[in-house]
Amino acid sequence: MNSSPRFCCQCGSAELRRGRPAGDSHERLLCTACGHVLYDNPRVIAGCLVEHQGRYLLCRRAIEPRLGYWTLPAGFMENGESAEQAALRETWEESGVRARILAPYSIFNATTVNQVYLIFRAELIEIAADAGVETLERRFFAPDELPWAELAYPSIQQILERRLHEQAQGQHGLYFGTAEAGQLHPLG
Ligand SMILES: [Zn+2]
Repeated sequence: MNSSPRFCCQCGSAELRRGRPAGDSHERLLCTACGHVLYDNPRVIAGCLVEHQGRYLLCRRAIEPRLGYWTLPAGFMENGESAEQAALRETWEESGVRARILAPYSIFNATTVNQVYLIFRAELIEIAADAGVETLERRFFAPDELPWAELAYPSIQQILERRLHEQAQGQHGLYFGTAEAGQLHPLG
């Protein structure tokens, strides 16, 4: 959840109040000193499903939430970078794996935490370094080795289940959905 700012980012005033600017559909945090509107919008998380010889890269989280559980390498986009760059950077930082993007794979909304996830399919270039400080362990799992009971989030399970199904069918799709609904919808 994004925390609410206490000071105006334009003028530094602490005189903030909630209100609806003229013509706006939502209540915002407004600076009564300078009139600046402090927008608070969803954040984008980018990550990769990295494949190598039919195996899938997962990272075991060294941080809360879901410490000790397995997830895809992913994290918040930084200003000035593309979604693809963010996905590859997060993969590198969390797993020490260099990868190449193949295609967008899963777009899903986590509306309770104001986040949008963009997950790309990627292929391994090289395992170049140790896993980062946010990762206890990184591993490429064969389909029959995947740690289903120790996955960090239902959305990770859905992505892996979909990918295994596709792999068996020899297909690649693009999916979107919501983390809360626990469903992914094929785009035609
Ligand atoms: Zn201000």
